[in-house]
Order: sequence, then structure tokens, then C-alpha cells
Amino acid sequence: MSNFTPMIQQYLTIKAQYKDAFLFFRLGDFYEMFFDDAIKASKELEITLTSRDGGQERVPMCGVPYHASENYIKQLVSKGYKVAICEQVEDPKEAKGVVKREVVQLITPGTVMEGSMLDERENNFLAAISPLEQETYLLSYNDLTTGETWMMKYENGMEGIIHELFNLSVKEVVIPSTLSDEDKLFLEKRLGITLSVEDQIDLPEEYRYLVKNLENEGYIQGFARLFQYIHRTQKRNLDHLQPVSWINQEQYMQIDMYSRRNLELVETLRKQGKKGSLLWVLDQTVTAMGARLLKKWLERPLLSLDEIESRHKKVQGFLEQMFQREALRDALSNVYDLERLAGRVSYGNVNARDLLQLKKSLGQVPMIMDLLQEFSETELKRLSYTMDPLSDLYALLDESLHEDPPLSIKEGGVMKDGYNQVLDDYRYAMKNGKKWIVELEQKERIATGIKSLKIGFNKVFGYYIEVTKSNIPNLPEGRYERKQTLANAERYITPELKEKESLILEAEEKSMGLEYDLFLELRQKVKEYIPQLQLLAEQISQLDVLQGFAVASERYQYIRPSFTNDRKVNISEGRHPVVEQVIESGEFVGNDTVMDNGTDIFLITGPNMSGKSTYMRQVALIAIMAQIGCFVPCKSAELPIFDQIFTRIGAADDLVAGQSTFMVEMLEAKNALTNATENSLILLDEIGRGTSTYDGMALAQAIIEYIHEHVHAKTLFSTHYHELTDLEQQLSKLKNVHVRAEEYEGRVVFLHKLFDGAADESYGIHVAKLAQLPELLIDRAHTLLHQWEKASLRSTSKETNNREEQLELFEEATTKKSNSGKEHPVVKELKKLNLLDMTPLDAINKLYELQKKLK
Ligand code: ADP
Repeated sequence: MSNFTPMIQQYLTIKAQYKDAFLFFRLGDFYEMFFDDAIKASKELEITLTSRDGGQERVPMCGVPYHASENYIKQLVSKGYKVAICEQVEDPKEAKGVVKREVVQLITPGTVMEGSMLDERENNFLAAISPLEQETYLLSYNDLTTGETWMMKYENGMEGIIHELFNLSVKEVVIPSTLSDEDKLFLEKRLGITLSVEDQIDLPEEYRYLVKNLENEGYIQGFARLFQYIHRTQKRNLDHLQPVSWINQEQYMQIDMYSRRNLELVETLRKQGKKGSLLWVLDQTVTAMGARLLKKWLERPLLSLDEIESRHKKVQGFLEQMFQREALRDALSNVYDLERLAGRVSYGNVNARDLLQLKKSLGQVPMIMDLLQEFSETELKRLSYTMDPLSDLYALLDESLHEDPPLSIKEGGVMKDGYNQVLDDYRYAMKNGKKWIVELEQKERIATGIKSLKIGFNKVFGYYIEVTKSNIPNLPEGRYERKQTLANAERYITPELKEKESLILEAEEKSMGLEYDLFLELRQKVKEYIPQLQLLAEQISQLDVLQGFAVASERYQYIRPSFTNDRKVNISEGRHPVVEQVIESGEFVGNDTVMDNGTDIFLITGPNMSGKSTYMRQVALIAIMAQIGCFVPCKSAELPIFDQIFTRIGAADDLVAGQSTFMVEMLEAKNALTNATENSLILLDEIGRGTSTYDGMALAQAIIEYIHEHVHAKTLFSTHYHELTDLEQQLSKLKNVHVRAEEYEGRVVFLHKLFDGAADESYGIHVAKLAQLPELLIDRAHTLLHQWEKASLRSTSKETNNREEQLELFEEATTKKSNSGKEHPVVKELKKLNLLDMTPLDAINKLYELQKKLK
């Protein structure tokens, strides 16, 4: 290393402390990267790789301009990398030798503060995991932009944590270096997120107030790990951090990661976008804070009847007074992101425009409070008493901030006239001086008779008098002092002008400096209000989410559900909140769900595409909507409070874990069967499909029996194993229902309507006939069906062991082996189709194509 130039040596010393980050090394107007960083960054950012003489060798180098760096940093951070910003920390003019440099901030995926890198309607969480005792872990997570921190405990290993991290879209997790390799691998493999190590677990005394809600030292250390990492990476004030909120998981409905994805609560399975999710329909919020809170509510539906009903009451109140609600909505829409503004105030990166936004937001609060007073619903009225408009802060901002300040806080124009006497004096001097100059111009024009004479200003020469070349002969000799010659003009100065100039410039410089100081002082004063601002932000976000529920409920005709405590479900004409929005209006067919005390399981049969999974999902979505405090899509609903929801729906592979479909299916089933209680809701869609028929059917039946005998949860079970419908005779709490499709003028018409009883068995052949498959083939199918029916009758009546024979028969049929024993290509192709990924039209087209091949 000793042969490198001093600067490269400095680089290497700093880089050694930030091995896992790209080191952005400030050199003049650029951030440069060297060595491996340069090679990697040039690829990731698609910028040119060059090299620089490093003393003992040429060193690979690439760089990005300082002013455009945010975009490059964003690219790297969004790919999961960290970026260490290394600045010059002394004036190059005063430096002896190499300019001193230090890392001033480590930007990581979980600690991004820059507005342009964040989605304003989403939280950006950084999490930390701390093992406590055997199999018990603490999880804490923080959004640095809003200052909120949450914490909870998991007692059964990492699985629960993985689900939570996934649900929260956490991009970075802080762990102790001692975390087992197995756990590390688990996190990396399952979630593919950035892992960062932090072993410091003591909390500085001045931040102890953050842990007042935590019970014991172990928990405090768990938070301290997160805190220390933030502190170490951000290297600045963290006064906006809010006390840690402890989450007691027993107080919320549990929905695991699989179910959350299957139910498409916040994003769709296929496109992974918000559009098409429940959030998409319910998000009628008008503030970014409200949008973030809604997502959190969807994350944790409530279990407490009182809390749920308190939300419902407010929604009802909003629904009953539409005019007041609309006025309130208007007022809310003028409230900026108080939470993030408060964060930036403490972080030290607010400008005058931000504070102006704060002022405007506070200006809305008295109106919001008045409007709340106008509601008859007492819970809404009461909210207005709990709000504090922070009038002092408003007044302070109002008297200090200019109405239209520039972006920069260093170039003046930020503070209002009349706020500070000294500033006013400087401004007066400047204004006076400038007025004097305008008058001088006038005076000199008259004195010289040169109408085009003008006084200008530039940064190098200051104020000057300019006379065009053609007018110079008219200028009295010696009147001015020559300063600069241009192509077609001369520029002059006078001692008087220079004197005024220095007065103006001095006043200007002083006023800018003073304004900057005044602004920092103002920011400091605002900082004292951060806790109140955060409380206000919370109140406003809640109002926003609840008014949004009312808007959605009115727009989409949701009704207020009621709750029972005897496990009865009674939904009349329930609808799927998302499907009803994406199909033509009025087309959605409502379906009832009546599961009284004597019914725990619905066994749902019916052809593909008839609406089985839509029906199952809608029951779960209605339950979730009810428990987050929203109204629900149906004519009437009486519901129990579900403690957990489990689903096994669709054929989506677990992309995260890279597991096989069938394995995921079984994992999801296991999850449901081991954790569900009689107060849970289970949805199982076509379980057992991923294996051979008898295998699958046997599993499906065993699962149903197990739920019936041991779990007792309300369960919706759809299946294409028609044989299972016989279970109705043996299992008293199981009921057959089916979704029917009918033939109309030679076409299949899906009624999407649920009926009691089992579906017609030979439905598939029927459809094949409608699709005009060769008659010979249809006849053969009928014959086979009858053979199997007979075979299965024989086996059940005699209970003989002729399963082998059936299997053979079955396999022969299902694989449709041709005489040569080789599988027919059409059958092969059929097997490969993923019907769940096809639209009905695609399916018909495919069928047509296959049929053509057979003809
Ligand atoms: P299955 O699970 O029986 O294969 P789906 O539930 O996936 O069927 O429904 C297939 C399609 O039918 C849906 O995408 C939707 O467009 C339509 N659909 C389902 N249920 C209804 C309904 N109740 N009313 C109107 N259309 C429906």
C-alpha cells in the first residue's frame, strides 16, 4: 500500500471500514470509485470505466457527477447495495497535503431518507432480529423517515419472522454476527434481502425514553441493535424517533405470508402490483400518511370487538353526512406528509418550502376540528377535542417564512420582512442602494444625453455603467473610469458607484448569512414540536383511512356487518370486492354463505371457471374487511370474529423459496392444520391436485376428516374429486354445495351461483361434447367413466383390495397411452397446460388447436 499516492492511500484506509458498501469518494465535483468498486459500479450503473495513476500502478476508476449522484445512489440501493458517502471535510485551500475526508452517511436499502428514492404511500422499513432464548426471537422494525418503531416476539423459530418481513416488504435486516449460519441462510434464501451486522446493544442514556414501553432489558437490547445500526450509518440527529410500540400478536388476526399473497391483499399474485388487490379497491385516502396507515391496518385486522365497532361507528358517521365528509376530505387533502416532514426536520434536511408545507397543513387543522364538530356521531365529535392545531407553531411559521421561498436555504429570500429587525435593516440598505443605482442611471442619462446608457451587474466586476461604442464620442472626457472593453460597448465605474456597491454587497452577504442562521433557529424551534406533530399525523391518518372506508362503502355499496360470538357465519349475497370491480358493472352474482353452528365445512364442487375460488376468497376478504373496520360487499352480514385465516389457493409457486408447487401446497396445509382453532377460517382450493389422483384424493379426504374431527375451523374446501361429496353422509358438519354451469343454445353458461348439493359428475365430458370433440372420443369417455364408477362401487361395497387394478385402469386412461405404450403428443401437451394461468378464451383456442391435431 505504501507506494500508492497519498490520496489512494486515504481511499484505501476509509474503504477498509466500509467493505460491504460502494465508497463514493468526493473529488471536486465528482464522486469517484476505485478498484473493484469501480469495476462493479461501472457495470451496475452502465458508466465508463477509466483508470488513474495510483502511484505504484494504474487504478481502475469510475465516477458520477456530484449533482446527479442521487439517481445513481438510488439505482444501487434499489438493487440491495449500500453506498457510503465520503465527503471532503476541510476546505481544500486550507488543507496541508491530502484534503481530509470522512464518510458522512451510509445509505442502505433500509435507511433511505431521500424523497426521490421513496414511495410516499409506502413505508420503508429496516428490521433487526435478536435471538433471545431457544427458538425465541425479537423482531423490531423502524421507518427512519417517519421515526416509528415496532417490536414483537416470535416463539417458534424464524418462520413467523420470515412471514412478517415479507409482509412488510422489508429490504434490509440487521442481525448479530453470532446469528447461526442456518438462520442467515434461511433469511437470505427465503427473502433475498440485504443482511447487515450490528453487535452493539447498549442504548445511550439520552435515548432511553424510546424504550419506555418495553418490559425487560432483553427487549431493550433488541431495540438498541436497530438503533445503533441507524446511528452508525446515519451519523446524525435522530430526535424524531418515536418510542417503540410493542405489538402483541394475540390482539390481531393472523394471516400468514402465503394467505396474504393468495388473497391478494396489497398486491396481485401475478403482476405484483397494487392494481387488482384489495388495497387498490379500499384505498380512497387523500394523504400519503393515510395510505401508509391503511396498509398497516390491512396487515393487522383487529380482534377486539370494541375496537372494530369503534371504527365502524366512525365510518357510519361519515356515511350519514356526505357533505361534511366531502368537506373534511377536501381539508385533509391539503395536509402534507406531516410524519415525514417531522422526520426531515430532525434529520436536518428540510428547506423553507417544506416548512411552508408544514404551515399550510397546520392551517387546515382548525377547519378539520370544526368539521368534526358537525358530525352527529359522537366518536367523530370526540376526535375533534383530542386534536391540537399547534397554533403557536403555525403563528411562528406564518410570521417567519416568506410565502414563496426558493429551494435553497442559503441564498436568501426565505424569511419574511418584519420577522427580524437586523434582517430588515440589511434589506433596507440593499433596497435603498439599488434604488440609488436606478436613480443614478436616470441622472447619468440626462447628464450625458445618452439614452441607451445603462447600469448593469455581474459577479466578476460588480456594478458598472455601460455605454455603446457609437455613443462614446458623446461622453465627457474623464467623467467615468474605464473598467472593461466589450466588442460594441465600454464599461465604466465611478468611486461613488463602487462605494454603493460595497454597501449593497455587504448587506446582501450579511442578510443571506443571517437568513440562514434564522432558518436554522426556526428549524430548531420546530423540532421541539415533533412529538405533537407525530400525534397529529397519527390522528389525521386515522381520519383519512376511515373517511376512505366510507367513500368506498358508499361508492361500492358496502354494508355494516354485525358480529356474533357463536361462530355463525351468515352472509347474504356476498360479493368479491375486487372481481366485482374488474368485470362489467352489475354482472357480479352475489352468493350467500350460511354456516350455522351445525356446519363447519362447505365442500364446493363445480366445473373450472365457475367461480369456486372467487367465492371462497370473497368470504375471507369480507371477514378481513370487517375486522379492519371497513364495511363489506354484501346485502347483510353476521360474522364471528376470526382469529386467523389460512388459505391454500391457486397454483402459484413459492417464488421466494423456490419450493415445488406440491411441497408448498403441503406446507400451507400443514400451517393451517397445526395452527387453526375453531375460530379460524380455512380456505382450501383443489388440494391434492399436485400428485397422482388416488394419492391426492386420499390426502384431501384425510385433511377434511382431520379438520372435521380435530380443528373445527370454518372451512371452505373446493375440489374436483367428485368422490369426496359422499363425505356428507359421514361427516355431520360438512355440507355439499356447488357452483353450476348450464348449457344454453349449445354454449356453456357459467351462472356463478352457489347451490346446495354436489355438482353433476359428468360435467367435463359434457363440455367436451359442446366443444365438438370427435363423437368417438366422447363415447369412449362415457364408457370409461361408467367402468370406473362400477369399479369404485365394487371396491366400496366389497371393500376388497382391488385398488391395484383400479389404479392400472385409471392410469391407462389418464395417461391415454396409445397402443405402442407411448404417450400421445396431444395428451402430453394437455398435461403441460396451466389452466389457472389461462383466460377462458385462451383455453377455448387451445382446445380448438388440440382438437384439430386429433382430427
Ligand atoms: P373456479 O375457481 O371455479 O375455476 P374462478 O373463481 O376462478 O373459478 O372464477 C372464474 C371467473 O369467473 C372469474 O375470474 C370471474 O371473472 C368470474 N366469476 C367468478 N365468480 C363470479 C360471480 N359470482 N359473478 C360473476 N362472475 C364471476
